Amino acid sequence: MRIFEEMESEVRGYVRSFPTIFHVARGSEIFDEQDKRYIDFFAGAGVLNYGHNNPLITDALIEYLREGGIVHGLDKATVAKRAFLTKFRDTILAPRNLHYKVQFTGPTGTNAVETALKLARMVKRRSNIIAFTNGYHGLTLGALAVTGNYYYKDESYGSRSNTAFMPFDGFLGPDCNTIDYMRRFLEDGSSGVDLPAAVIVETVQGEGGINVASVEWLQQLEALCREFDILLIIDDIQVGNGRTGSFFSFERAGIYPDMVTLSKSIGGGLPMALLLMRPDLDQWQPGEHTGTFRGNNLAFIAATEALSYWDNEDLEQAVRHKGELIRTELERLAEQFPQLNARVRGHGMIWGLELPQTGVAGEASKEAFERGLLIETAGANDQVLKFLPPLVIEEDLLREGLGIIEESLAALVEKREKTLSGE
Ligand code: PMP
Repeated sequence: MRIFEEMESEVRGYVRSFPTIFHVARGSEIFDEQDKRYIDFFAGAGVLNYGHNNPLITDALIEYLREGGIVHGLDKATVAKRAFLTKFRDTILAPRNLHYKVQFTGPTGTNAVETALKLARMVKRRSNIIAFTNGYHGLTLGALAVTGNYYYKDESYGSRSNTAFMPFDGFLGPDCNTIDYMRRFLEDGSSGVDLPAAVIVETVQGEGGINVASVEWLQQLEALCREFDILLIIDDIQVGNGRTGSFFSFERAGIYPDMVTLSKSIGGGLPMALLLMRPDLDQWQPGEHTGTFRGNNLAFIAATEALSYWDNEDLEQAVRHKGELIRTELERLAEQFPQLNARVRGHGMIWGLELPQTGVAGEASKEAFERGLLIETAGANDQVLKFLPPLVIEEDLLREGLGIIEESLAALVEKREKTLSGE
């Protein structure tokens, strides 16, 4: 570990939660240099929905490289990009009756978010954007301005002067409809909230602690946007690509966003990001918004293979089945350890076990790591254990991983009780 401490910036994060040197991986298992195996409930923060080194994807990549396929292409036309666009249109957009133009941005999620915010402001000629409490959209300055979490934001990085925050579904308690709250600000010209160009929202807040917006809330949000001529941007970077069951997370609400950001698993494990926009919003001049690494052709190859998981409904059904299994197990664990006051929430295959006492979720993650499981925390105070296994995880492995969680919680409870009793 010495070289990392000596050379790499203090900013490094996950290496502290998972302090070992990883070497190889396959499917939902990752191995370190000592050949210790870890079950992966972290899945590269949502990049590995199709697993590590999925053979379908790696075979296609190796063949493409062997043939001398174009790797870097800026936004030139390439065979790999054609294959991706064709597959995406035919497999994802057309069957859902969605009509979007595709813009490839720089390869990270935050690049897609920046692009969406800029385009919305350009088209509507308004600078304000409405974002939501506990939302996470990336850490470049534009995306950071619409990210809630206090840990990442400081006034000295630039103000949030073109951003207004509104309460996400449930933020003001179960009895407050936060869309009605938001409506009051929009309809009263003296509220101090300027009419925004767009609203940006996650249907399930990932980093924010697995907060699931209800179908009704999402539908009301869409209606409100239509009423006030505001663009609706769904950030599907973490919960798109089948994480909630359907390919897009907003399908369960039957809404039609004006723009959608995608990244993480869209590249089948390789860096890639894109913005989907309603065709009439595509008002860019040629080359007006560029970036050297827009056309990552290896990612196009990987992504095209990954999309074959959407040729039929098998994956979607598997996600529903395994998601139910996770929910049942977590609810059982919450009952088994009443002293933890745990709460369970999620959808599809993204689940959170909220452990409200300070530091407990982090301790659980540490205990799990020692027992061979990678799992991260989320939420404003890192109070939520976040379950994000690859969608393709085998059921046995999923159960084994959940078993490790049970052991970890038991160990943690025992340690806490010993400390309390002064042993
Ligand atoms: N939006 C959402 C919803 C995300 O979860 C993330 C990453 N966690 C981002 C944007 C930013 O993506 P990236 O880290 O690739 O810039």
